[in-house]
Amino acid sequence: MNFYLLIIVGLILFEYLFNVLVEILNLRHAKTEIPGEFKGVYDAEKYAQSQQYLKDNTRFDLFTSTLMIPITVAFILLGGFGVVDEFARSSGRGMIWTGLIFAGILIIASQIIQVPFSIYSTFVLEERYGFNKTKPLTFIADQLKSLVLTLVLGGVIFAGILWFFSRAGSWAWLYSWLAVTLVQFILIYVAPVFIMPLFNKFTPLEDGELKEAISSYADKQGFTLKGIFKMDGSKRSTKTNAYFTGFGRWRRIVLFDTLIEKHSIEELVGVLAHEVGHYKLKHIQKHIMSSVLSSGLMFFILSLFITQPGLYQAFSVDSADVGGYPPIYAGMLFFGFLYTPISMILSIYENRASRRHEYQADAYAVNTSGHKQSFIQGLKRLSVDNLSNLTPHPLKVFLEYSHPPILARIQAIRKA
Ligand SMILES: [Zn+2]
Repeated sequence: MNFYLLIIVGLILFEYLFNVLVEILNLRHAKTEIPGEFKGVYDAEKYAQSQQYLKDNTRFDLFTSTLMIPITVAFILLGGFGVVDEFARSSGRGMIWTGLIFAGILIIASQIIQVPFSIYSTFVLEERYGFNKTKPLTFIADQLKSLVLTLVLGGVIFAGILWFFSRAGSWAWLYSWLAVTLVQFILIYVAPVFIMPLFNKFTPLEDGELKEAISSYADKQGFTLKGIFKMDGSKRSTKTNAYFTGFGRWRRIVLFDTLIEKHSIEELVGVLAHEVGHYKLKHIQKHIMSSVLSSGLMFFILSLFITQPGLYQAFSVDSADVGGYPPIYAGMLFFGFLYTPISMILSIYENRASRRHEYQADAYAVNTSGHKQSFIQGLKRLSVDNLSNLTPHPLKVFLEYSHPPILARIQAIRKA
């Protein structure tokens, strides 16, 4: 048996089993008794509902992966990639176009496979708990828009990388890294203004008590009110949220309309202060830095494996040249399977940094807004409204949580 094939199938199975273990631990860790902090905030019925929501979601995730893993492994072992590659080659185009056809088919196929799961999650699971507000037409439009965006943006980037790797010799990884970094920076500027509005409406805050409270806080912080927007989150879900995005002139703090509806003005100023904290403490820049470094590492390791014939044989793809160049489009995809352990380690590191940033933004919010109690109250309301799991297993938090569990956040704020 091919060495790469053995490693890759082993990795897929290991990752699956490990994930099942983590989910089971996480379910068992859920406490049926309401934690002290939340007595009086959660009533017994609503708390039981949050536990059921966790169970339903976990069950659905496990069902999805249990179905998808055998399909993926069978597709690899039965030579599915080879069939798609032969079809792409039969177009008689050069290597880059062949690569775009190859990747395009796989992306469209995987999106089509995901549609039923997505429908179930939105219209059955989320609906059951009263979260869903998505109309079927919005759902269809979302699917199409994201597919087109992936194909266009992904296609341009993929073609660029293929061009470098087929023509730039041993420095291809460096050129690809620089090019992808450049695109990443352009997207940070462009996405809030040109891409996000494709999915949601962003409007400046209306005049009134909230705008006054927010502008008096933002003025003190030197954050222009022009950068604060309300988003129609209610178009898809009753869930509440807020986020900070972008750089420089196009930086934005976004508050969901659902959040504005459910929270007091003091709580909303607290949420805003937390987002301003992310801005002042340069968390976006730090996040970008680490993602640039990790993509450099990825391209370098990719360059070591991309020409290994064994990698192509593992996926039953002919390593013979296409239009004078090796079929590196396929090698890049196969490398993705090999890279999962490293990307998992990097994401653990990235999540840990993100959780640290959340504590820092909380401390910043409390110190600058001066409303400790209402900030804690706001966090609690946010967890209850979204039926968040109050007691996740520490291993689940370590591996996947970009935000600390709510009880840990409250504890840290009380201590400060
Ligand atoms: Zn945050």
